Amino acid sequence: MHNPDWLSQGLTHIWLPYTQMQTMVTPIAAVATDKSKIYLADGRSLIDGIASWWTACHGYNHPYIYHQAEKQLRTMPHVMFGGIVHEPALRLATRLADLLPGNLERVFFTDSGSVAVEVALKMAMQYWLNKGQSQRQKLLAFRGGYHGDTMATMAICDPEEGMHSLFKGILPEHYIGDLPIDEESESILDQFLQKYASSIAAIITEPLVQGAGGMIFHNPEVLKRLRRLADKYGLLLILDEIFTGFGRTGTMFACEQADIVPDIITLSKALTGGTMALAATVATPQIFEGFLSDNPIHALMHGPTFMANPLACACAHASLDLFEQEPRLHQIAAISAQMKTELELCRELPKVKDVRIMGAIGVVELDKINDINHLKNKLLQEDVWVRPFRNIIYLTPAFTITSEELHRLTYAIYNVLSEE
Ligand SMILES: *Cc1c(COP(=O)(O)O)cnc(C)c1O
Repeated sequence: MHNPDWLSQGLTHIWLPYTQMQTMVTPIAAVATDKSKIYLADGRSLIDGIASWWTACHGYNHPYIYHQAEKQLRTMPHVMFGGIVHEPALRLATRLADLLPGNLERVFFTDSGSVAVEVALKMAMQYWLNKGQSQRQKLLAFRGGYHGDTMATMAICDPEEGMHSLFKGILPEHYIGDLPIDEESESILDQFLQKYASSIAAIITEPLVQGAGGMIFHNPEVLKRLRRLADKYGLLLILDEIFTGFGRTGTMFACEQADIVPDIITLSKALTGGTMALAATVATPQIFEGFLSDNPIHALMHGPTFMANPLACACAHASLDLFEQEPRLHQIAAISAQMKTELELCRELPKVKDVRIMGAIGVVELDKINDINHLKNKLLQEDVWVRPFRNIIYLTPAFTITSEELHRLTYAIYNVLSEE
């Protein structure tokens, strides 16, 4: 096994995500991808169990996305979006409005999930400011949640994961509650809102699955309760579907399973099928109309340089075409069924606390992972790319993964855990 020269040299200049650089384990070097495989510089290949942070839902290098991207690349890979519009973005906005439930129909494009959430927060806060309600400066978010890594989004993540104590005095302080998972917690939340609702602009949560916060599931009833409470107290409801959107939980959007419509929704991750950076914040006409005014400062003052990038929009169109042309929701159901049979076997292993499956998300929760680097290494030795974190190992494969490849993933997890 030889490492390419760019690796050792470059590692002295790069700053890696979520990594204590002092004790960094040398990361693996990828040179190519195809379908559900990542090819490495040392000649090996791995089956990807997590689809590059849940993005590559059609597998890597899908020829159709490639073809559509190539066409866009030749004509107009990028043009600014200030004062200029273009067909890929306007058609994509129309298409998302058609696809999303209810009257979510006004689309603001950005280039990352965190920024899409920032825009959602800004919309919610300014919606009330424009109405002259300047006391609504707080948000209600939930323990176990994850909404991004920027300063404003960190402040609404789970307090521990969002490192609220490290950044105390720097991050804005919001209300972080427990999701209303039963009637008792609903009534606690109701009492809380009776007291504090007038200081709150919006409630924000990830629907059905809190992803990066620990792959914690809740049922659709929880979302119904949040919608009811938001309506009762006149608050906005923001659903962050950056992880759950585009089929991951078994329906195109998670909120469809609860039959509710938020006031604002955020999308990213699988929006372009894992090819280009793109995100969207989509609002109802009620929110949008709150910005219509003779007063220029009532406008939404936001505009990322690369917003609505035409190449990224073309990839999103191609990805949505694939959802229409290929049987993605059936594939997701098949993945779900296979994981239910195969991952379920892990339940009998000594350190396993829970096994849970929703759509194309499979989670094995352990009591505790003692040596996470050791576990990561053992998974690599099985030629699979699976990234355990905290006390969980999870699979979020491409929807196009073959059942044989999926079997290799579930088998690798079982194998590695049975040796723990
Ligand atoms: C990944 C994620 C984000 C942040 O997206 P980035 O593109 O990493 O900034 C926000 N919310 C949820 C639910 C996510 O899964």
